[in-house]
Amino acid sequence: MSFTDLRLIEPLLKSLRHEGYNTPTEIQRQAIPHIVAGKDMLGCAQTGTGKTAAFALPILQQLHGRKPSPKPTQGKASRSPAKRAIRTLVLSPTRELAAQIGDSFKTYGKHMDLRGTTIFGGVNQRPQVRALKQGVDIVVATPGRLMDLLNQRMLRIDTVEILVLDEADRMLDMGFIHDIRKISALLPKQRQTLMFSATMPRSIQSLADKILTDPAVVKIAAKTATADTVKQSAYFIDPRSKADLLGQLLEGPDMTRTLVFSRTKRGADKITKRLNGLGFTADAIHSNKTQSARTKALHNFKSGRTNVLVASDIAARGLDVDDISHVVNFDIPGDAETYVHRIGRSGRAGAFGQAITFCAHDERRSLRDIEKTIGASISVLKHSIPSPSPAPRPSAPTGQRKAGPAGRPKRTKRKPTAGSRQARPKASAAHANDGAPRSSSKRRRNRAGKPRKQAG
Ligand code: AMP
Repeated sequence: MSFTDLRLIEPLLKSLRHEGYNTPTEIQRQAIPHIVAGKDMLGCAQTGTGKTAAFALPILQQLHGRKPSPKPTQGKASRSPAKRAIRTLVLSPTRELAAQIGDSFKTYGKHMDLRGTTIFGGVNQRPQVRALKQGVDIVVATPGRLMDLLNQRMLRIDTVEILVLDEADRMLDMGFIHDIRKISALLPKQRQTLMFSATMPRSIQSLADKILTDPAVVKIAAKTATADTVKQSAYFIDPRSKADLLGQLLEGPDMTRTLVFSRTKRGADKITKRLNGLGFTADAIHSNKTQSARTKALHNFKSGRTNVLVASDIAARGLDVDDISHVVNFDIPGDAETYVHRIGRSGRAGAFGQAITFCAHDERRSLRDIEKTIGASISVLKHSIPSPSPAPRPSAPTGQRKAGPAGRPKRTKRKPTAGSRQARPKASAAHANDGAPRSSSKRRRNRAGKPRKQAG
């Protein structure tokens, strides 16, 4: 099947050709006809499946093809033909995801006379208000900032024809349910509503019952989204030695663009500092960082200026970075859904990727639970990092073990020892030819004076 079979119009086909998309993904095949037909939809799909285009393309097609409803927007003054009313509102849980969705609308809609803007918190609202004042057809927003601006009467949304709730489960997890309720009360009753969620807990089902009318339901199995294109493996490792193992793996020729997940924000900072100390170019991204630091970290990672991005789960949610060669679960995720989400960052849109999970010996059970849920086995690899001395000395100053000092054999930054070969061959197998020229320069580039400081 091609995009033409989906009856997409030429301005969109032109953009898709430019992006090099030849074949629609499963969710695009299933969702586009319903959305073009004006139906409400409940889509169960993860990022990485092509879900943004699955709603952005048919929405653009609809907006392009029909005239806006005649309702005036801002009273009498706004009836000038130049003034546009907001016709599509997309709500997204995080700033990063909102920015990426906004970019997708721009990319796919570049041959159309439609305007969009993105609204999120953590940055000055003035440019966002200015864009709104100029008139836009499409607004992509995080619920918090949108509510702020609505309360200040900076925009009105009673002209919206299509509402999208993206990553609805995450929005509920993040406590946005009240904002969502308030926002939907301000929208016209007569509208098309699309809701996407990676998981379908009862809370999502009941939200869907409230805001969707006779929806088409499209489900894309999570398993195929991960297992087919991502090679999964794990290492059993003493938690105190994880950073050493990560450093050793990063020396491998195939780890060209690596996303590392940490359970906590502080952990993400610590890992980043450690990697920078080892000479790798790494940045951290999490919600304690300023928006500009997050944007910069993401930009550096996308452009290849940094090879490693260390992220917390929420910050990494929906990150749209192509060609992530490896996802490393520095801390094993608490549940299988998070695992599937994390590893879905690599192996996107048909490319191959690898997921490596660090597992403490007392976390074996969590690993088994994940395997059971995803219905696949995760191969356990051996490494050559020696364990630190068996127990911390009783005279240690506090209960908080600091990474580093006594007990841990200090790793040199030299080439890995012969023993470390064990850690690599398996991890490299799927990527033997992948990016080899870049990897050996991972540290050298850094020594050559490129900034190794964290953004922000
Ligand atoms: P998403 O699930 O929307 O985050 O998209 C995942 C990635 O797949 C993004 O990098 C898109 O640019 C890319 N993508 C989406 N649809 C297609 C397609 N039909 N063919 C190739 N790549 C695609």
